[in-house]
Amino acid sequence: MSQSNQILYDADKVHFQYQLGHQRIEALREVTFQIKAGDLVCLSGPSGSGKSTLLNLLGLIEPMQTGNIFFQGHSLKKLNENQKNQLRKFELGFIFQHFHLFPVLTAEENIEYFLFRQGLPKKERVLRAKKSLESVGLWSHRHKKPLEMSGGQRQRIAIARALAKHPKVILADEPTASLDQKTGAEIMSLFLQANQERGTTLIVSSHDPMVVNYCKNKINLRDGLTVVQQESHHVSTSCH
Ligand code: ADP
Ligand code: MG
Repeated sequence: MSQSNQILYDADKVHFQYQLGHQRIEALREVTFQIKAGDLVCLSGPSGSGKSTLLNLLGLIEPMQTGNIFFQGHSLKKLNENQKNQLRKFELGFIFQHFHLFPVLTAEENIEYFLFRQGLPKKERVLRAKKSLESVGLWSHRHKKPLEMSGGQRQRIAIARALAKHPKVILADEPTASLDQKTGAEIMSLFLQANQERGTTLIVSSHDPMVVNYCKNKINLRDGLTVVQQESHHVSTSCH
C-alpha cells in the first residue's frame, strides 16, 4: 500500500472540556475526521472554535477525554507515557503559537537540542540545524537567544526546529500569525517542500487565506464541531 493511502489520524467523536474553577468549557463537542499520510490540511474556524485544543490532542499534548483518536492505527487512549514520548520525539513536529523556545539557548542550540534528544550524531545535528536556519533566512542570527529576536524571527526559529527533526507530521498552530505576507508565503513553501521531499503531513491552524489556499484539505470548526471536511470521500460531518 502506498504511503499516501494510509490513514494517519482517525478522529472519532472527539469531545474535550476544560475545567475552569467550577465552570466547564466545552472546547470540542463532536469532532470526526480522517487525515491521510501526506495530506496538507488547514484547520480553520473563528477564534475560540477549538483549533488549538484539537492540535494539542493530535500532538499528544493534552490527554484524550471522550471519543478517540487513532494515530497510525494506534488508539491514543491506549498508549503509555513512554510510547507517547517516542511519538513526540520522532514522529511529531509541533509549532506552538507562542513558540516555546528555550530562553537560555541560542537559536542554533534550540534546534540542536531537539535533534540531540532524537539521538542524532553531532555531525548530523550541526548539518540539519544549519540547513533549517538557512531555509528560514536566520543563519546569521544563529548565536542569538530568543529574547534578542523579534516575534517573527522567533516564529521562524520554532518552524526551523520542527522542520529539522524531519517529523512524519508537522502540527502548526497559526504559524504565519506573526509573519508578514511574504515571509508567511516562504514558510508555507518550506512546508510544501518537506511534504514533497519527505511526504511530511502538514496540519496547520490558520485564518490566513494564503495558508488556506496552500492546503488541499480543509477541516472547519465551529463551536467545537466539525462542520465541513472539504475535499473528498473521507468526509465526515457532524453538524448538529
Ligand atoms: P482556537 O484555537 O480556535 O481559538 P481554543 O482551542 O484555544 O480555540 O479554545 C476553545 C475553547 O476552549 C474556547 O472557548 C477557549 O476559551 C477555551 N479554552 C482554551 N484553552 C483553555 C484553558 N486552558 N482553560 C480553559 N478554557 C480554555
Ligand atoms: Mg488557537
